[in-house]
Amino acid sequence: MPLRVLILGGTIEASTLARKIAGDTRLAPVLSLAGRTTKPRPQPIATRSGGFGGIEGLARFLRNDKIEAVVDATHPYADQMSTHAVAACRETGVPLASLVRAEWQRRADDRWQVVADAFAAATALGAEPRRVFLSLGRQDLHALATAPQHHYLARLIELPEQTVLPPDLRLLQARGPFDRADEERLLRDERIEIVVSKNAGGSATYAKIEAARALGLPVVMIARPHKPAGVTMADVDACVAWLHGLAPRGV
Ligand code: NAP
Repeated sequence: MPLRVLILGGTIEASTLARKIAGDTRLAPVLSLAGRTTKPRPQPIATRSGGFGGIEGLARFLRNDKIEAVVDATHPYADQMSTHAVAACRETGVPLASLVRAEWQRRADDRWQVVADAFAAATALGAEPRRVFLSLGRQDLHALATAPQHHYLARLIELPEQTVLPPDLRLLQARGPFDRADEERLLRDERIEIVVSKNAGGSATYAKIEAARALGLPVVMIARPHKPAGVTMADVDACVAWLHGLAPRGV
């Protein structure tokens, strides 16, 4: 019998892993998405969508679906899902691997101010009105309502549902990867004075950081949260090898 694998996704790495193991007869994977994106990218393996219902719900899912290995490939800022994965896997004895994307490193010519969260980012923008580019999730936008004096341009995959939003906010719906020249053009055309970003790591959304550097713009960088992990994997290939190590031979 192939190894029953749960992949916690919502990232490029999870999609890459799905592509790499699709059709692999040693593995029986299911990719789990939080269900926030109304039109998620099509996937080449089975998917499920929506929360599990906390640690207990995930532990129940692992038992009911006889999951034998979990790969946490969630985003670096999805700390709650990772906390639940560590706890549920410990409770059920299911091995857990965590794909950890390396952080972007500040270069000498970067003008970063690192802050703890989106509320601290709002404060860091200062008292004077500024033109701000927001590269955050829609769940973070309400924090910027605490600094209503600024003009915001927010780029999102999905439009926000919250009612509390900054008053002067324009939304730009787009999904990465983004190109460096396009990012520079956007920041210049919109006369952006400061960028607010998460330290997502990876290449898909790095172009805005390069563009800010090229234009000499400051970046308010929201620090990563503490994200509990199982066996840490630096890349998708290491994850595939880990799964093959757990899979029964001769399937
Ligand atoms: P989170 O705060 O860590 O998780 C909140 C709750 O959402 C979890 O407790 C869980 O609900 C559910 N959930 C999260 N990821 C899930 C998954 N892959 N499958 C099933 N349920 C999931 O996560 P988040 O920051 O809201 O992120 C949600 C999703 O978007 C994740 O899949 C993440 O990889 C992706 N994402 C997040 C960001 C970001 O900046 N946070 C950026 C890009 C992509 P229950 O407790 O009910 O199980």
